[in-house]
Formats: sequence, structure tokens, C-alpha cells
Amino acid sequence: MTNSTPAFPPGTILGYPRIGRRRELKKAVEAFWAGTITADELESTAAGLRRATRDRLAELGLGRRDSSIPETFSFYDQMLDAAVTVGAVPPRFASLADDDGAIDLAGYFTIARGVGEHAPLEMTKWFDSNYHYLVPEIGPETVFALASDRIVREFEEARETGFLTRPVIVGPVTFLALGKASDEAPAGYRPLNRLDDLLPVYATLLDRLSVAGAEWVQLDEPALVSETIDVARAELLGAAEYAYSTLGALTGRPSIFVAAPYGSLDDALPILAATPVEALGFDLVRGDVPNGLNDTVASALAGKTLVAGVIDGHNIWRGNLAAAFGAAGALAALSPSVSVSTSTSLLHVPHDVDDESGLGSRGNDGDLASWLAFADQKVEQVAVLARGLTAGAGPGAASGATSGADAIRSELDAASAALAARLAAPGVRDGAVRDRAASLTEADFSRGDYAARVAAQEAALGLPFLPTTTIGSFPQTRDIRRARAQLTRGELSTGEYTALMRAEIARVVELQEEIGLDVLVHGEPERNDMVQYFAENLDGFAVTENGWVQSYGSRCTRPSILWGDVSRPKPITVEWSTYTQGLTDKPVKGMLTGPVTILAWSFVRDDQPLGDTARQVALALRDEIHDLEAAGIRVVQVDEPALRELLPLKKKDHADYLDWSVGSFRLATAGVAEATQVHTHLCYSEFGVVIDAIRKLDADVTSIEAARSRMEVVGDIRSSGFDHGIGPGVYDIHSPRVPSVAEVTELIERALEGIPGRQVWINPDCGLKTRGYAETVASLKNILEATRAVRAKVAVPLPA
Ligand code: GLN
Ligand code: ZN
Repeated sequence: MTNSTPAFPPGTILGYPRIGRRRELKKAVEAFWAGTITADELESTAAGLRRATRDRLAELGLGRRDSSIPETFSFYDQMLDAAVTVGAVPPRFASLADDDGAIDLAGYFTIARGVGEHAPLEMTKWFDSNYHYLVPEIGPETVFALASDRIVREFEEARETGFLTRPVIVGPVTFLALGKASDEAPAGYRPLNRLDDLLPVYATLLDRLSVAGAEWVQLDEPALVSETIDVARAELLGAAEYAYSTLGALTGRPSIFVAAPYGSLDDALPILAATPVEALGFDLVRGDVPNGLNDTVASALAGKTLVAGVIDGHNIWRGNLAAAFGAAGALAALSPSVSVSTSTSLLHVPHDVDDESGLGSRGNDGDLASWLAFADQKVEQVAVLARGLTAGAGPGAASGATSGADAIRSELDAASAALAARLAAPGVRDGAVRDRAASLTEADFSRGDYAARVAAQEAALGLPFLPTTTIGSFPQTRDIRRARAQLTRGELSTGEYTALMRAEIARVVELQEEIGLDVLVHGEPERNDMVQYFAENLDGFAVTENGWVQSYGSRCTRPSILWGDVSRPKPITVEWSTYTQGLTDKPVKGMLTGPVTILAWSFVRDDQPLGDTARQVALALRDEIHDLEAAGIRVVQVDEPALRELLPLKKKDHADYLDWSVGSFRLATAGVAEATQVHTHLCYSEFGVVIDAIRKLDADVTSIEAARSRMEVVGDIRSSGFDHGIGPGVYDIHSPRVPSVAEVTELIERALEGIPGRQVWINPDCGLKTRGYAETVASLKNILEATRAVRAKVAVPLPA
């Protein structure tokens, strides 16, 4: 480190929730979309939120003028922000840009959401989180140039209110590595090849930030920790070396902090160590303190600030503060300059435990809140640890060294006491649940021969060629949401609420019959959320009141807290499904959420392996499926949209993950008769990555997202030889666009080019709950019209 390097702050976070404590940003953005507020009004709401965030972070213990507060605001997504900053706007949206390539707010949202015939950028999960980012499209036609100075303006905005903040942007390697080749690109084209053209834009940006007075910038490079992205490791490492030698060599730039959340850097560490960047971030929740470093790497690291990501940004437990402190201390053996941080951005956790009054949960007497840390509590934890590190306190230090150190010791002790209380609390371990999970045998995990199942299901269901269905939910109308709110407030009785939901179900059934769908659903009106609904009906979970977390754009979810052993006190969905089946002769799918997804979209206890927890959830679902079948339901769908999301980023962890994730699905579903058709639904289009897992799930029918990527997945399905039923989506439900009959026909035909017709099902990409009725009905009608046209054209294949 040169003398001119400003000190890195002793404590920081990698990012903070952007949606607002009461989802103010969501509301403002949606009001802007609806045309009820102007762009200026939206801008001023956003500026207010940024100001509130800075003030709050300072109040919680981060410094106002030491670059410890990161600028991670976004109107929609940080990858989209990076794309519009560097001018990577796809040609179909070129008309949105002015002469300098700049895009206004309306244009920004158009790229995210699509318009008319122009599909939006694809969306996919951010590492192993439930956050979705927009996938930049990069091709030979992409002209990189600094097209937005929003980052600089936000820094200046903060400076005007007396703050010296730390601008944050996705790093160039991650930006390109997660990008996809545009349609204009020739075969074999890789966005990472454009690094040389992109770096000058980052250089310009760094220069502008330096002129504005920024002392530190944070470049997020999570791609460096992942072994599951679609780029050869050697190429990724080469890019990192080139990018950070190049940016590092610039003069007059701010100091650079490269953050690498979501895992350990492994072989990327020596590479980054050898570059001139001034600070490196380590995710010490997922990864370990680096050891066995050779002398060159060790001496390079000794000259940098090492940022110890010891507070879990991805979960809500108060955690073991003493252990976190110990890990930060261990990093201090590698460099005289160590700072404390969160492991990831706090984007993944809600704002504040103090916003929860009830934390309702059966079997927990209300001490749950003391076990938790949301974003604000985590900031406080960082501040405590940072003070402790500075004061030389901590587990190994002699007590009473300084009074500051004593104060910190007492914080560490309080966290340890809360942890001990949690582990001993009633409900955390339930003997009956544990005995049942321990007594399972091989047979509990497998169904009969697939061919026999196909024959039995054909006889039981009598479905046409290219059967049509939906993924489960129908639009959640304002009336439905209002009824649920009234039920919660006690303004509706359970009986009145049930009657309203039944009326809704009857409407949805009638609509599906009119449209001509083959396998019907009840539409899930009674579910606020596909995971929370089950969490509310299972023991071992608690739900929050204000614990919102951004999922994508303006969309938020409220993850439940899985704190204890899981069991099902009584049937959950059976009455709804049997009521629905009573309304129609067509088969109705019973709809359940699978164990992996229930885990992925909840905050899960961290005191036992995920696989043990998944097994408990699977047993509860198995009982539910048994009851559905006994009540006459012939098709059951167990959604596992998060199967890919939880796939560990490191290859060495895959086998264990696939073992327990697949095992829990099979445990849930293997109890049914051959004639009962088991569906599953997955929510992403990178089928290839988890094809083995999908095959092993052994579901009779798997529906998967495919429309947004225009059936890219078909190649993977074909080459994998997957031979069960498969429904590649033909309708992108993430966008309000109605696909035309011609468009859907083309997608179906593309599917049939790669997959034998007898396997193919026709369905949307995902559930319809976020859509409006008008567009949903129009789209489903187009899907049916297209299906009929293809059925008429393609000869019905003989049974296999
Ligand atoms: N059955 C759920 C629905 O239709 C599935 C949602 C999902 O995959 N995310 O809403
Ligand atoms: Zn889905």
C-alpha cells in the first residue's frame, strides 16, 4: 500500500436493502409504471430513501466520512445498472437511448420489463440466492461507453449531505462472465472476449469518481468464487488478472476494494493478490480464512487491507459473534490492516428485527426475536466487531484490557447466551420427528417402473397429445388480497374467507374449462406465497410481519423462519383440492411446494445440515400427498423452482447437495400409486446444469421455464436423453406481454424439433399470480389456439 492510500474503514457492509423499510421504493416504482407519479417524483422518493439509508447506517455505527457506507441503491437491479452505465443496451432497445447512449428512467424499466414485441433482458438467479438479476446481452455490436453518470451523481448527492460514501458497481469480470452472447453474435462468441473494450469504460468511471472525491470504490466480483457459471475457470482467472492489473495500474484513481461474496476465492486469491488493488473482501461465512499461502502471495496480502466478511449477509440468525470475531482475528495474522464486514450484501435480509411485534409461531414462546439479526442488527454487529478489533478485545484477549474492550466482551457474551438459549429452546428438537426420520429405508425413496406408471396414468387420465396445463397460480387479484388482509385483521371470519376463496376457485375452474386446458388447477388464491403458506401450516416455522426481501425489480417476498423441527399438525391443502375436483371432470392437480424450495425461500436454522431439515419437510409433504391421493386427487405437483438455486457454487459440494435435495423430493413423492401422476416445476432455463438431478427426481412430468430464452433449453433436454414428460414454457410470465399465436406456435414447434412429441406438455413458464387477468386470459387462449394448430399439423405419435 502506498502512503497516499486512504485507510479502509474498520467496519463496513457490502450492501444494504434498497427497497425501503416499508417497501417505499416498490410502491414508488409501481406508481411510476402505472403513470400516477412522474419520473421526477420517483427520483425524489429514491433520493429520500438513499438519504434515510445513510442516516440510519451512521446511527447504527458506520462512519459518515470514512467510505464505510456503500452506495448500493438501484431502481431495479445492479446488473442492469452496470449494463446501462457501460452502454450495453441491446439493439432492440437502441431507440430508447439518446445520442450519447443515455437511457432515461422509463427506458431503463423498459429494458427490464420488455415492451410490445421487444422481450426484456432475461432474468436469472444471482449465485445461490433467491435474488434475480437481469442478464446483459453482449455481442460484437455492443459499443461500450460511459453512458450514465448516475453512480457519480449519487456519490455527489451523499457528499452534499456530509457523507463520504463508497460507490459500488459490479466488477467487469462478473459483468461479462454473467452476460450472454446477443442474438447478433456468431456461434462460440463469448462476452468475456470483450474485456479489453470494456475496461476503458471502467477506467473513465473510476476517473470521474476520483475527481468527484471518492476515496474508495467497491467492485463486486462474485463470479470469481463460483464454479457453476458457464465460463472456463482458466479464462475467468485470466480475465481477473488482466482486469485488475489494468485498472490497478491507473493513476489518480480511487483505491479499489474487490469484494468476492458467496464463497471462497480459492485459486482466484493468488491472482488478485498479485494485482495492485488495495483491498480484498473474503466471505468467511461460506469460506475459510486462507491458509497454506506461499511467500509471494502472503507478502502481497500483507500489503493490502483484508476485509473479513464474518457477519452472514444471507441469513437472519444473530449467530455466534465470538466465532465471527475469531475469524476476523485469524485474518489479522495475514495483514496488519483488517476490517470487518458482512459476508454478502444485506440485500438478502429484511431491514430490522425491531419492526416485528409478534413473530408469531406455534410452539415458540416469543423469544425468537432475541435469536435474530436482520440488516440493521447486522450493521450493529459489524460496528461492535470493528470496535473490538480496534480495541484489541476478543476471545483470546485478557479481560479488562480496556473498558471499551469490556463493553465488546459483553456484547459477544450476550450473543453467545442467546445462541445457547436458542439451541435448548422447546420445539427446536422434537423426538417423534427425529425418530421417524431416522427409521427410513431405501424403499421409502422410490416409485415403481416408469413405463408401468405411464400406462397406468394413461388409463387413469386419458389426456390428449400435447396436454396443456398451467403451473398452479392464477392472478392474485386485489379482491383476493383484500380478503386475506381482512381475515388477518379479523374483519372476515374463516368461514366467510373460505367462501370467497371457493367462489374464486369456481371462477378459475370455469375459465380453464372455457379456455380448454386439460389438467386444471385451483389457482392458489388462498396462498399469499407458495412457501409462506406451508410455513404457516407447519410446526417449526415463524412468519414475519415486515420482513420483506427483494426478489427481483419491485417484487419482494417475506421469507419465513424455519427455527425448529418440522411437522404437519393436520392436512393443509386437501379440502381445497377436493373442493376443486368436485367442480370438474377434468383432473385437478394438487399443488405443493417441495422441500428444497421451502428451505431455499425461508431463513433456515443453521444448527444442523440442510439435508436433515429437508427430510423433515419431505415427511410432512409425504403425508399431505398421501391424504390428497386418498381423497381422489390423481395428479400432484410438487414445485421445486429453487433446485438450481441452492446448487452449491463449488463443485466439491455438488454430490452431497444432489443427494439430499433429490432424496427429499423422492421421499415426499414416492409413496403414491403408479396411476397417480407426479409433476414437478422448475423455474430457470439452465436445465443442463442440473439435468442429472432432474432425472433422478423421477417425476412423471417436469415443467420448466423456456419462453424467455426462446427454447434454448431444448438442446439440453435432447442431448441429455431425458425421457419423461417435459413442459418447456411457452409464455414468459415475468413480463406483461401477451405472446401471439404465431410466437407460441413457433416455440411449440421448436420444442418438437428436439423432443419426442409424446413427452411434450404445453404450459406457461411459471405461475400466473403476478399477472393481470386480461393478459393472462389472452395469453392462455393464444396458447390453446397454437396447441390446437400444432396438434392438427403433427400426426399423433403412436404410444411408445
Ligand atoms: N405453483 C406455483 C405458482 O404457480 C409455482 C411458482 C414458482 O414456480 N415460483 O405460483
Ligand atoms: Zn416457476
